[in-house]
Amino acid sequence: MDVTHDLEADDGDESPWPRCSMCGSRMRMVTVVGPTEAIVSPCGCHAPPDALELE
Ligand SMILES: [Zn+2]
Repeated sequence: MDVTHDLEADDGDESPWPRCSMCGSRMRMVTVVGPTEAIVSPCGCHAPPDALELE
């Protein structure tokens, strides 16, 4: 019998989180503090919201 492994145990390439455009770390949270500024967590970078590929 064949067994199909469809587990998603690996935390590999497919991350639900986009990468920070400033430092390349995965973003876990973005706090928008103004129309042109947001703070990325956990890396702490400041960047315009438009640059962070928010949906
Ligand atoms: Zn960053």
